[in-house]
Amino acid sequence: MRPFPVILSAPSGGGKTTIAKRLLEQRGDVGYSVSCTTRLPRAGETDGKDYYFLSTGEFVAARERGEFAESAEVHGRMYGTLRREVRRVLGAGRHVLMDIDVQGAEQFARAFPDSVLIFVLPPSVEVLMTRLMARKTENDETVRVRLASALKELQAVSSYQYVVVNDDLDRAVSVVSGIIDAETARRERVPELDGLVQELVDELTREIQKRSEG
Ligand code: 5GP
Repeated sequence: MRPFPVILSAPSGGGKTTIAKRLLEQRGDVGYSVSCTTRLPRAGETDGKDYYFLSTGEFVAARERGEFAESAEVHGRMYGTLRREVRRVLGAGRHVLMDIDVQGAEQFARAFPDSVLIFVLPPSVEVLMTRLMARKTENDETVRVRLASALKELQAVSSYQYVVVNDDLDRAVSVVSGIIDAETARRERVPELDGLVQELVDELTREIQKRSEG
């Protein structure tokens, strides 16, 4: 199996983080790329697990050293994917799952053209609002900023290969999982396909010869 990057994007409240968590629990062949951010940790978030929480100075220095495969400003904070995180997961033979915004997804896919881009849509504005409000950590201003970026992010759906409506979590997780399976079987991704087919051709040729001789 040749592992590849899987990008999940969605407007805030689309539910992609929950989908990502479920996939990581269910599939041993998927790993997560921990991003860097300059936003503050929310309650329950751990440095090095949810994000690497950096100061603006640290983030800019890492970006100048070329450590990011992509970086973007989202909701007024900086976010970036470390090249070494991507290499670590792919190097362990796992598909690398990334929860990144639409600007980052486009940059990343240019750097890693074998990426699979999946857009997660909330089923309705009502559901999106409920999910956002459920995060008690968000104040009015943050919610307003997130709704405005949700509106902007929705316009980017056409640059994604797949769209999953997150109306039911179990169903959405199994659709994303199915996409990963189907992409694994894509002809271009099957390692040493020529050799594999050649072996089958040789063996079949021998069988046919045997039968015509006998
Ligand atoms: P949150 O602050 O709610 O964890 O994430 C806010 C937004 O930043 C989400 O849309 C998420 O997909 C995006 N994001 C998280 N990590 C990265 C990253 O490494 N790069 C980019 N471009 N966006 C990210």
